[in-house]
Amino acid sequence: MLIEKDRVALIHYTLTDDSGAVIDSSAGGEPLAYIHGNGNLVPGLETALEGKQAGEKLNVTVAPKDGYGVRDDQLIQRVPKRSLGGAGEIKKGMQFQAQVGGGIRVFTVTAVVGDMITLDANHALADKNLNFAIDIVEVREASPEELDHGHVHGAGGHHH
Ligand code: ZN
Repeated sequence: MLIEKDRVALIHYTLTDDSGAVIDSSAGGEPLAYIHGNGNLVPGLETALEGKQAGEKLNVTVAPKDGYGVRDDQLIQRVPKRSLGGAGEIKKGMQFQAQVGGGIRVFTVTAVVGDMITLDANHALADKNLNFAIDIVEVREASPEELDHGHVHGAGGHHH
């Protein structure tokens, strides 16, 4: 069975950066289970998996524009510390979530100078090539319930 829209695929993956450092991997754990064609993976990886089948292995390099995006300086802002009232002591490297335009954005504190802090809402993997080594474990039809929930149930997915 081929990977197509609204089918469930279970994949093992290892994600490395251009220096070969491992960013994330499913090795040693459950495979990642996702519903294809629903934006659950970065676009470049979904495109590469389209039409593939269980047992195939592939190496995919996803460019930033098809991955976590190109770094955008507009997403970097300086704000007074007091605008994060109640957050306690603010240190470089801390992350906050905020509702922006209907979506959740993660802001990382990249600098603290006096009473001003610099917040960066770029994804940590923005501007990076994503090098995936993929091992396709299983492809099956999604159940109506899975399509309704938008996620996979059972192995590699949600248990509820
Ligand atoms: Zn569910």
